[in-house]
Amino acid sequence: MLENQVAFVTGAGRGIGKAIAKALASEGAAVIVNYNGSAERAAQVVEEIQAAGGKAEAVQCNVADFAACGETLADVIKRYGRLDILVNNAGITRDNLLMKMSEEDFDAVVNTNLKGTFNCIKHVSRQMLKQRAGRIINISSVSGVMGNAGQANYSASKAGVIGLTKAAARELASRGITVNAIAPGFIRTEMTEVLSDAVKTAVTEQIPMKHFGETEDIARTAVFLASPGAGYITGQVICVDGGMAM
Ligand code: NAP
Repeated sequence: MLENQVAFVTGAGRGIGKAIAKALASEGAAVIVNYNGSAERAAQVVEEIQAAGGKAEAVQCNVADFAACGETLADVIKRYGRLDILVNNAGITRDNLLMKMSEEDFDAVVNTNLKGTFNCIKHVSRQMLKQRAGRIINISSVSGVMGNAGQANYSASKAGVIGLTKAAARELASRGITVNAIAPGFIRTEMTEVLSDAVKTAVTEQIPMKHFGETEDIARTAVFLASPGAGYITGQVICVDGGMAM
């Protein structure tokens, strides 16, 4: 379904990004597996994709670094001659109550989650405009939709991603580029593994489906948004959260 397409997935060495990279590759896309610190794990994802007959390579880049994103994406576009799918998945948490949250923790989360998404969109948009085609998929969060106590920085960054998604969708729609967000609920990854059992139990109570989601739940939605069948969908936020936000 995605043969001859090139996809760049940020933070794809583990968790949700890894599942998205593998799912896009299984549909035929050549996938650039971006990582920041997890070089070995990104190499492992590339090996898994290649072992399954897919195309992939690992590329290091800190998405919070505007200049580095520019250089990395320009290099990818030069080498592949195109870029069809951008998935802005890289993200971090630095949870604390607002009263105790440091400026550094606020800035770090916003710089990675929100500015990182801007940085990558900015540096692929010219190429996608030239192609008159492209799919941009931003990973927001249920915390950006509903807010979450203890996550003022994270909720603000993920709500910002939704605003950015809608603005970019309006700017790019007439050139055949769609921009959508996925807002995952609580998904089983290293990000949620660190939560205490008490928090996990309290969260599960708030999920109508009464269980955490899997990375593949998000990956399937990303593949759909990248597919030809989703060509008339733009500026949307799709919650994949077991019914949390409704
Ligand atoms: P995770 O397992 O903690 O993985 C985070 C990924 O982001 C890693 O691959 C990491 O790469 C990458 N990353 C972090 N900072 C980066 C940077 N500056 N530059 C490039 N890559 C960077 O998290 P996850 O659960 O898979 O989350 C993936 C996305 O889904 C995030 O945006 C997160 O906010 C969102 N989300 C997750 C949940 C959930 O329940 N898990 C719910 C809602 C939204 P390195 O290891 O190479 O640093």
